[in-house]
Amino acid sequence: MSLTLKTGVEALPGVGPARAKALARLGLTTVGDLLNYYPRDYEDRRKSAFIASAPEDLPVCLTLMVAEPPRLSRIRKGLELVKVRLVDDTGSLTATFFNQGYLKDALRTGETYICFGKVEGPPGRRQMTNPVCERADRVRFTGRILPVYPLTHGVSNNLLAGLTLRCVEECADQAEECLPQDLRQAHQLAEAEFAIRNVHFPADEDALAVARRRLIFEELFYLTCGMALLRTRRDKAAGLLFRPFPEEDFLNLLPFALTGAQRRVIGEMTADLTSGGPMNRLVQGDVGSGKTMLAAYGAWLAAKNGYQCALMAPTELLAEQHYRSLAPLLEQAGLRVGLLTGAVKGKARKTVYAALESGELDLVIGTHALLSEGVTFARLGLVVTDEQHRFGVGQRATLAAKADGTPHVLVMSATPIPRTLALIIYGDLDVSVVDELPPGRSPVETYVVGEDKRQRMYNFVRKLVGEGRQAYIVCPAVEEGETDGDNPGGNPAADLKAAVTYAQTLQTQVFPDLRVGLVHGKMKSKEKDTVMTAFAAGDLDVLVSTTVIEVGVDVPNAALMIVENADRFGLSQLHQLRGRVGRGKHQSYCVLVTSTRSQDSRERLRVLSKTNDGFKIAEEDLRLRGPGDFFGSRQHGLPQLGIADLAGDMRVLKEAQNAAEELLRADPGLTEPEHTRLLARVKKLFSEQGDVFN
Ligand code: ADP
Ligand code: MG
Repeated sequence: MSLTLKTGVEALPGVGPARAKALARLGLTTVGDLLNYYPRDYEDRRKSAFIASAPEDLPVCLTLMVAEPPRLSRIRKGLELVKVRLVDDTGSLTATFFNQGYLKDALRTGETYICFGKVEGPPGRRQMTNPVCERADRVRFTGRILPVYPLTHGVSNNLLAGLTLRCVEECADQAEECLPQDLRQAHQLAEAEFAIRNVHFPADEDALAVARRRLIFEELFYLTCGMALLRTRRDKAAGLLFRPFPEEDFLNLLPFALTGAQRRVIGEMTADLTSGGPMNRLVQGDVGSGKTMLAAYGAWLAAKNGYQCALMAPTELLAEQHYRSLAPLLEQAGLRVGLLTGAVKGKARKTVYAALESGELDLVIGTHALLSEGVTFARLGLVVTDEQHRFGVGQRATLAAKADGTPHVLVMSATPIPRTLALIIYGDLDVSVVDELPPGRSPVETYVVGEDKRQRMYNFVRKLVGEGRQAYIVCPAVEEGETDGDNPGGNPAADLKAAVTYAQTLQTQVFPDLRVGLVHGKMKSKEKDTVMTAFAAGDLDVLVSTTVIEVGVDVPNAALMIVENADRFGLSQLHQLRGRVGRGKHQSYCVLVTSTRSQDSRERLRVLSKTNDGFKIAEEDLRLRGPGDFFGSRQHGLPQLGIADLAGDMRVLKEAQNAAEELLRADPGLTEPEHTRLLARVKKLFSEQGDVFN
C-alpha cells in the first residue's frame, strides 16, 4: 500500500490498536503528524572504528562478524544474558546483552553486523554492553545521525524512529510547500521536502542546521502572520463609540490617588474607547502595580455609556478577590456587579444568567464559567481578561463573540515579556505599561538559602508572626511523588517538598502553637476559598500552598514568602510568587530555599535577590533558558509550536517577524492566489484555539 500524509498510523507495519493509542497520546494519528513530530535531540552514530583502535569513551560503529554461536544464560528470574564473540581484522571482543534473549537466534554465526556502542576493556579483553546491532546489509539506525524523539509510555524511540524513517522515505516528497518561493529565496530557506528529510535523518550537521532553520523560521513566520491577521481584522471592524466622562468622577470613588502610570494608562484607554474603533489593549505591569483599578475604570466608563463589562480571571480565587474589592467600589457609582464562577451553581447561577441577559448587571466578574453557552449579555461592550497569559487567544475571542458587535478588549498581564518576544506573543494588541508601583512600597528583601539555614528560617517565621505578620510557604508538589496540577512543568520526585505532608509536619512539629493552613490545586474550590478567606482575614499565620497562589492573590498583611525547592521554578514564576508579599506597608521578605549544589542554579536564583524589576528578570530568564521556555510553557495562550519550542536563536525570530510584516504589507489579508496555501497553514496553526479567524 502506498502511504500519503493522511494515511492513519495503524496502516504502518508494527502498529496495532495499542500502539496507535499510545501514539495518539503524542498527537500522532497520521503519517503527516509523524513527519511534523520533530526530534528533541540527535545521537551521532556515524563514527566508525576497529576493535583494536576503538576509543574507550566514545560510542562508535564497528563492522563485526559473529565468530561462534551466542550463549544464553538465565542469571535469575528477570535477568537473561546473551554473550557472543565478535571479530574484525584487528581483533575480537565479547558483546553482552541484557534481557534480549531473542538475539541468541537472531545473531547468526558467520554473518556481518554493524554494532554501535562503547568498546571497553584492555586489548585482548575488549567488550561491549548492549550494543545496537544491525545486519550489515540492512542498516537503518547505525552509521548515521539518529533522531531522538520526545516519548510517552508505550512508544520507544526505536519504534518512532522506525516509523518516521518509513514515512520520510515514502512521503517526504509529498510535504506541501507553503512558503512563497521568493520568500524562501530572499531568506535562504530550504525546501519543505529537504527540511522534513533532514530534520529527522540529517545527512550531516550542515543539512540539519539548514533544515532546522527553515522549520523554525516558518513556524514563527506563520505565528506572526496569524497574530497580525487577527489584528488587521479587528482594526477594520467598527467599534463601540463611548462618550467620555470626567475622570474625576471615577477617581473620587477610590480610597487612594492613582499613580502617574495608572493615570497615563487610563488616558490611553479613554482615547481607544472614544475613538470609534475597537480597543485592543494589553496592560502590562509588574505584580502589585495596581492593574485592577484600570479594569475598574473600564467597567465604570462602559456602564456610564450603558454597556456591560465582563472581567475574566484564571482562577476562582482571583475572581472572588476581584469581586470583593471591585463590587463595593463600583456600587458607590451605582454599578451592579455580579460574580460567576464554577462554584456559583443552580438557582444562583440562573439568577446571574438572567441578570446579564436583561442588562441588570453592569459588571460580571468570573472565571472560564463566563464562556459557558448559557451566558448571554444584553449589551456587552468591554471584555477584560486578567493574567492574560493563562488564557488562549481563542478564549478571549469566545468571550468577545458574546457581544453583538466588536466589543472593546482589555487584557492585563503581570508576566513581563521581554521586548523581543512581546511582538510575537501580543502582536495583535496595543501595549500599555504600568511602570510604577503605588507609593510606600519598599522592595521585597530576597535571600537564597540552603538546607543548613532551615532552622533559622523557621525562627524568622516565628518572629514575624509574633509581630502580627503572616507567611506563605510554597511547595512544588501537592502530595509525595506528585506534581501540582497547576504546575504541569514540574517533575515528580520524592525529594520535592509536598504541600500536604509538609503542612502536617509544620503544624504538628515545627509550629504547634501557630495556625497553619493549606491550599492546593487539587482541593475543591469551596475548600480553597474557605482557607484563603481565613488567611485574608488573619485567622491563619502560615499558609502552605502550591503555585495556585501564584497569580494575583492580594493579602497586604502577608510579609514573608518562602519557596521550597526554589530551583524547580522559573525566575519569572518566582518573581510572581514573590509579588504576593510586599503589598502592604510592612517590610517584606522572600526566602528561596534550595538544596541544589549546582553553582549555575544558585547563580540563577541570585538574580532575584539582586533586582525587583520583572522585566529585567524576564530578560535574564530568556538569556539563561532561551525562548523555548516562553513558547513551550504554554503560558501565553499561543498555539502549541513544534520546533520553535526548541529554538534558541533570537535572530531567526527577528527575521521571521520582519518577513511576515513585509509580506502582510503587500497582501494584508493573504488573499492573493499565491498565498492560498500559506493562509491555510496559518489557520491550521491556530485551529486548536477555536475558529479565531471567523
Ligand atoms: P496587580 O497589578 O498585581 O493586579 P493590584 O491591582 O492587585 O495589582 O493592586 C495591588 C494592591 O495595591 C491592591 O491592594 C490595590 O488596592 C493597591 N493599589 C492599587 N493602586 C494603588 C494606588 N494608586 N495607591 C495605593 N494603593 C494602590
Ligand atoms: Mg492582578
